[in-house]
Amino acid sequence: MSKVTIIGGGIIGLFTAYYLVESGFEVTVLDQGDLTQGCSVGNAGMIVPSHFVPLASPGMIGKGVKWMLSAKSPFYIHPRLDRRLVEWCLLFYRSATKKHVDRSIPYLKNLSLLSKSLYLDFARQHPEAGIGLEEKGLLMLYKTAATEHEEVEMAALSNANGIAADVLSRSEVRALEPDADLDVRGAVHFTGDAHLDPARLHGFLQRHLQARGVRLVGQAEVLRFANSGSTITHVVTNQGDFACDQLVVCAGAWSGKVARLLGLKLPMLSGKGYSFMQENQPAIRTPAILTEQKVAVTPFGAQVRFGGTMEITDTDHSINAKRVQGIFEAIPRYYAGFQPTAPAPESVWSGLRPCSPDGLPYIGPTAKWRNVLFGTGHSMMGISLAPATGRLLAEQLREHKLSLVIDAFSPDRYA
Ligand SMILES: Cc1cc2nc3c(=O)[nH]c(=O)nc-3n(C[C@H](O)[C@H](O)[C@H](O)COP(=O)(O)OP(=O)(O)OC[C@H]3O[C@@H](n4cnc5c(N)ncnc54)[C@H](O)[C@@H]3O)c2cc1C
Repeated sequence: MSKVTIIGGGIIGLFTAYYLVESGFEVTVLDQGDLTQGCSVGNAGMIVPSHFVPLASPGMIGKGVKWMLSAKSPFYIHPRLDRRLVEWCLLFYRSATKKHVDRSIPYLKNLSLLSKSLYLDFARQHPEAGIGLEEKGLLMLYKTAATEHEEVEMAALSNANGIAADVLSRSEVRALEPDADLDVRGAVHFTGDAHLDPARLHGFLQRHLQARGVRLVGQAEVLRFANSGSTITHVVTNQGDFACDQLVVCAGAWSGKVARLLGLKLPMLSGKGYSFMQENQPAIRTPAILTEQKVAVTPFGAQVRFGGTMEITDTDHSINAKRVQGIFEAIPRYYAGFQPTAPAPESVWSGLRPCSPDGLPYIGPTAKWRNVLFGTGHSMMGISLAPATGRLLAEQLREHKLSLVIDAFSPDRYA
């Protein structure tokens, strides 16, 4: 049986292990922490076929510059003289074109739709998992005419691409949320989106994989590799060496660093975000994005999670209290009936979204090494896109015809 070693036990690594073990591979997952310290547990848990436009898009540069001027805004780049940061920003700038967006849409859309259908299969096959998968869609709530204009345009583009989007008036959206006293101008409802509890999903996958014989090795930091010609033979960690026939790098925001250990160039920075929980009282029923503030809202029964902020950084988890305050202050501006309690600093979660400069993930093989694949760079959509990524990587290793064309996701595109 072919031995596959996966670096990274976040959601991408675990879903890759899930499809590989189903295909008969012997799988080991190595993680530098306890597998939960990456980005995959405290996020908003949204499954978003509606997010088919890459982050690198024409409107983002202007918005980003404006947001940089406010301490509580949802976007920030820590200015510093760092070669990798400068290079990443230049590549982002070059990708923020209509041509790039038009080319990327079918790739992202197909990946998302495959992932959503795999989640529905997964929930049917594992009712015991209790991942809380619900198909209530996603509300893009807005307060201003300018945002309404943008969102209505987005809804039209979405419908033209076969992703259903309904434009709702103030009274229609208030009827969907009868308890929370919504103070908004209106909303776009992406009815095909869904959500789940990411911590339960990650916990179930760990238990399921262990029961299927997958080795999950925590506190094993990958330090370097041993090779024979163009084949990686061993992964060297602080817990010793692990032999491998195939290697899959799913190291999230750290993947650029792991790529450098392999002599590869994979531009990657972190998009740090924060989240905290509140009592869901009065009840918020439908997942939403508070569009002007870029705050994600996900109800999990008696609790609701608020999350947001994209701080472009390296791999630093520190928490910026002002930006957490920005998320907190946004809540009652939209949900007038909701009186949030200031989150205690220790209850705030921070996660590092693995961000490529063109807003597309890296999925697939690399020319330099015969037996190395990447599954990373999913930015704000790692939960959403994890099953499809895992399935495609397993298809690559089985040398099966791929379910989708994925050349736009090549890890070699910046080589
Ligand atoms: C506030 C917030 C809200 C979000 N909401 C959503 C959402 O609603 N929907 C959605 O789809 N996505 C969302 N995301 C994004 C999503 O969380 C990420 O895209 C996803 O978790 C990335 O998963 P990953 O497996 O690639 O990385 P991670 O979960 O970070 O896992 C990478 C793992 O690799 C390990 N690792 C790294 N380097 C090494 C090494 N050298 N040796 C060994 N192990 C190593 C790390 O320890 C880590 O466990 C959100 C993110 C944030 C911050």
